[in-house]
Amino acid sequence: DRTHLMADRELFDYALDQVVRLTNSSVGFFHRVSDDQANVILTTWNAEALKGCTADYDASYPLGEAGNWADSVRLKRPIVYNDYQTSPNKRGLPPGHSPVLRFMSAPILEGDKVRFIFGVGNKAEPYEDGDVVQLQLIASELQKILAQRKAADALRASEEQYRRFVEDDVAGVYITTPDGRVLTANPAFVRMLGYESLEDLRGAVSDPDRQLYVDPERRAVFHRLMAAQGTVSGFDSQVSRKNGGTIWIGENTRVVKDAEGRILYYEGFAQDISERKQAEQMKSDFVSFVTHQLRTPLAGIKWLLELVSQEPDLSEDVRSYIADAREADERLVRLVNDLLDASRLERGKLTITPKEVDLAALTQSVLDEMQPLIAEKGHRVTFQPMALPPVWTDPQLIRQVILNLVSNAVKYTPAGGAITVTIRIPNFQFPIPYLKNIASEPQSQIANQKSQMLEWSIQDSGIGIPKTSQARLFEKFYRAENVLTIETEGTGLGLYLVRLILEQFEGRVWCESEEGRGSTFLFTVPLPGKGKWG
Ligand code: ADP
Repeated sequence: DRTHLMADRELFDYALDQVVRLTNSSVGFFHRVSDDQANVILTTWNAEALKGCTADYDASYPLGEAGNWADSVRLKRPIVYNDYQTSPNKRGLPPGHSPVLRFMSAPILEGDKVRFIFGVGNKAEPYEDGDVVQLQLIASELQKILAQRKAADALRASEEQYRRFVEDDVAGVYITTPDGRVLTANPAFVRMLGYESLEDLRGAVSDPDRQLYVDPERRAVFHRLMAAQGTVSGFDSQVSRKNGGTIWIGENTRVVKDAEGRILYYEGFAQDISERKQAEQMKSDFVSFVTHQLRTPLAGIKWLLELVSQEPDLSEDVRSYIADAREADERLVRLVNDLLDASRLERGKLTITPKEVDLAALTQSVLDEMQPLIAEKGHRVTFQPMALPPVWTDPQLIRQVILNLVSNAVKYTPAGGAITVTIRIPNFQFPIPYLKNIASEPQSQIANQKSQMLEWSIQDSGIGIPKTSQARLFEKFYRAENVLTIETEGTGLGLYLVRLILEQFEGRVWCESEEGRGSTFLFTVPLPGKGKWG
């Protein structure tokens, strides 16, 4: 079978010759049908039909003018006219075409569209069922070949696209062992790291964690994430290039396992994000510079206002101006401090001193501190401390987390609301990646597994958060649109700080809320010996 070697037109000619011969016909045609099914495009004829025919190849015939020979397009099945001269519509033969006495034609379909029609004519005797079967057989054979060709073309195109992507200049693609040794990589990845070739890279780097990655701490986080979730995305690391110098890369990596769950390798892609990192650095340097510069004058103003307010004979008006000025100054101090904290956390420059912390006692002290504000708004706060193990975290930072969440609940709940704080040991949940192993262990052992976290939560009866905003609350400067009308004061930094701080301890924060009914904010912190710092 040599049909698969033929180009389309050659294939059509060949098929046409076959049917003409097998059905004792003398003329044959093979025409394309336009995509909108409205035109027939003349494609090829056999020699006999061409004799004296002056039509151009690729001339287009509107289907409506093409006469009965094109009926099989509309009907999508073979047709036979044994006496074409008396047929109702015998128009539309190409100019100079020899007279057609009888013919049959069949459509070639792709999906539900007719791609070609294909026919023969002028057999000496009338066409019989056997002839139609011959035509139909060859038509369906052609239909199959064309469908295969189309699929092969699509596959080739997608392979080509994939190859271009893999060899692309921007994305480095790699496959490594779990400890990071490169098994294979595309040229972009090799170039990104400054090596001549894949062999060069593989030969030079035997211990990637030390040789490539600049910060072992950061690399350890990568390994922990991969072990826990089997994937990381947008993970930034600083890496050394071959001839000195470093760049920042962002990696998306996932673990590939066999059917039994054994790790085969890691695959991923990396992008050079040095420029972005540099811009971020400049921005953060700027913010840190400006906020530092603001701190001293703000403290000066505060002190001066304090002095002025002690003057004995001030009018009521002046007193209230001074009070407003002090409040505004305090707001600025808080903003500056939040910005500084955020920039330190972003840069990993905040000193963290974890120790055992009694979360319940800390919560109580924050609630006591907030008491005047709570009383002013007439909220009812419920908190029943219970005996709980201590958590392992930085007391100053976790205090800030609690303070931010409590003050949000107070702020975003209309006067006379109900606020409930709860701390608990959440039910032990199997970490998903280990589900399989644990399921095969005896039940008693599962029952003994203890949670490694405490879960803190605060529920309010406030304005709630629109569904569309919930996912974005923890972004820097984000504020939901429903607060802007009732509470104009706010920076959108509080929850961002909460997230940054908890990330330091591998804790998690999230919220559940229904607009108009209230919100619950929850976070987790690790017990001693369980987290990154334990
Ligand atoms: P800020 O309170 O300064 O606007 P936050 O980062 O603390 O900034 O909070 C971000 C946004 O999250 C708020 O503007 C508000 O839209 C929403 N939000 C936070 N806490 C609550 C809450 N308890 N109830 C309703 N909305 C809240």
